[in-house]
Amino acid sequence: MPLPLISEAPVADVTPDVTPDVAPDVAPGSKRLIDRLSADGRLPLADFETLLSSPSDADRAYARVRAADVAQRQFGNRVFVRGLIEFSSHCRKDCLYCGIRKSNREAERYRLSPEQILACCAEGYRLGYRTFVLQSGEDARYTTEVVTDIVRRIRAAYPDCAITLSIGQRSTAAYQQFFDAGADRFLLRHETADSEHYGRLHTAGQTLESRLACLSDLKEIGFQTGAGFMVGSPFQTVHHLAKDLVFLSEFRPHMVGIGPFLPHHRTPFGDQPAGSVDLTLFILSLVRLMLPTVLLPATTALGTARTGARDAGIQAGANVVMLNLSPPEQRPKYLLYDNKPVSGEVFEMTEAVRRSLSRIGYDIVVDRGDHPKEIR
Ligand code: SF4
Repeated sequence: MPLPLISEAPVADVTPDVTPDVAPDVAPGSKRLIDRLSADGRLPLADFETLLSSPSDADRAYARVRAADVAQRQFGNRVFVRGLIEFSSHCRKDCLYCGIRKSNREAERYRLSPEQILACCAEGYRLGYRTFVLQSGEDARYTTEVVTDIVRRIRAAYPDCAITLSIGQRSTAAYQQFFDAGADRFLLRHETADSEHYGRLHTAGQTLESRLACLSDLKEIGFQTGAGFMVGSPFQTVHHLAKDLVFLSEFRPHMVGIGPFLPHHRTPFGDQPAGSVDLTLFILSLVRLMLPTVLLPATTALGTARTGARDAGIQAGANVVMLNLSPPEQRPKYLLYDNKPVSGEVFEMTEAVRRSLSRIGYDIVVDRGDHPKEIR
């Protein structure tokens, strides 16, 4: 049964910018910084470090209510759903945190054919999805031509849908070709804005510089561009997180993916602790205040880390959820971290999310869900 069409659900009235009377215990210093971030869209590195050092419950509550208020003004109670199609679990890279890294010999590998990908889109479209996110490891078998052909076929079959790619680092020419074929958005998390930290999460030959060059190309070409990082990744400090926020404030991506680090037992970080859900939620709120119109998912990792955390992410300022349209039998093979949810029919999963969000006052909508300033 398709999602009931909620066309043009009204966005909440814009009301004067008032500071909500919440969290009376918020520390004056934190309140001042959160208010300044909201007003200016940026903060100096040292101020981010102060905010992130040890936020109190009241600090987090204050940021959350302010961020939810901003999200309401921009998007009303609408939450955009994305249909994720994980089309290849092969990867030539070896990121130390990732369950499908090349060196994980136990990972089962699979590839979806263009026809299988289109079948996932058909199922998603029937259920009301209007954005398809094509994600894979960095798999050379999907050449520029192959990906371009897939994008063209989806674009022709679903002219009213957005196509998002999340397939890693490619040449500028390849990115341009994907865009020209009809891809609208590209997700490429920067992972950490500190080169030394980047080096500790990746293997030789992977550099922050090349990652950022790709992000810059994508934005230049015209993609709605997504950056992002993990909270609590190994070796991460408050200084690194502050650098991530400064980077976002300068790069100003259209989308930001942030989730807690979750270990995978077959990686070098398998025994590392998971990242903090509370800190992730606080950072989501700060990002919403800094980039009011950003497309901000309450990520699967967040929902995996703690029951109810996906809804908490929406209440903290997120406005997107991503659900898995991949064939159920392949999902267990795309295990980026332990306990990633892999079961469930798309219809049931969608309905469960809809019910859960409606209990907190939000609706998932049939909509491409573009960035408000970037509709082509
Ligand atoms: S994070 Fe991406 S590029 Fe790195 S190993 Fe995993 S799938 Fe490959």
